[in-house]
Amino acid sequence: MEKNTNTEPILTVKSLEKKFPVYSAFGKLFGTTAHVHAVRDVSFQLYEGETYGLVGESGSGKSTTGRTILGLTPATNGQVLYQNQDLTKMSETELRYFRKDLQMVFQDPFSSLNPRKKIGSILEEPLVIHKLGNREERETKVFEVLKLVGLQAEHYFRYPHEFSGGQRQRLGIARALIMNPKVIICDEPVSALDVSIQSQILNILKELQKSLGLTLLFITHDISVVRFISDRIGIMYLGSIVEEAPTEALFAEPLHPYTKALFSAVPDFTSKRLKDRVVLKGEIPSPLSPPSGCAFHTRCPFATAICKQQTPILKEIKPAHYVACHLVEEKE
Ligand code: SF4
Repeated sequence: MEKNTNTEPILTVKSLEKKFPVYSAFGKLFGTTAHVHAVRDVSFQLYEGETYGLVGESGSGKSTTGRTILGLTPATNGQVLYQNQDLTKMSETELRYFRKDLQMVFQDPFSSLNPRKKIGSILEEPLVIHKLGNREERETKVFEVLKLVGLQAEHYFRYPHEFSGGQRQRLGIARALIMNPKVIICDEPVSALDVSIQSQILNILKELQKSLGLTLLFITHDISVVRFISDRIGIMYLGSIVEEAPTEALFAEPLHPYTKALFSAVPDFTSKRLKDRVVLKGEIPSPLSPPSGCAFHTRCPFATAICKQQTPILKEIKPAHYVACHLVEEKE
């Protein structure tokens, strides 16, 4: 499904940057020894009703990007614009108002479900905090979201430990839905689940997106999953987006060597469909001491002298298809 990206975005991420301090072995009193640059100059837009997939290896900064957008960890620099307001400049109290619209689904919802409370009261809690509805209206809303995610009314009275992994992720989605959000950030929501359960959860998300007009930012390391769920995809490497394109365009012709390497590792994405396979060597470098120039140059089979010196800029190579690579620029 192609989305109309000519309209105004619902959420804009502009030059987002996140650094984490690294403290001396003797503790915070002795100051920082370095910074981990987890997210560097990340920009993208979310358009209403679309799913934007953010994909990369572990350590690429994709989850930190999601958490920084919601202010769960403060941004070091950059902007997150929602309804013409910059979320990164808001106090916790101001942010609370906007969090009704912007919710998150985590990989492991169980860890955030209070084991001593029944599901009804866990799901109702955000409504109580935001003083929304009376007791009866809140109960009705909880039954409504349980139904939306395919759970039964009787689950209202159960405790979190009585649910399977797939049911717990349904609860995670239900909790995000309780506030009638406009945007949901899904951080590896199916990574911990069996393949058969994964497809159930992905289908639920797709159906809910359609029926409720939700906008999703879907964060994952799984290429097949991101292809199934996304309208557009951003590929992240060591804190930066190196390629962005509509899903079908990206899979028809990946242009960045890192994207080609990721796709080459997917068994059903055969060499017949991917003309020049790239085998990814070694581990992603530490964000504590990222390589100079193009951060991918230590693993890129096409790296030349310029790659070690100059950081390539994300440029539009084809309509709506952006790539940050000196090699691709040279080809054009
Ligand atoms: Fe490889 Fe150079 Fe392109 Fe980076 S800029 S991906 S090192 S060819």
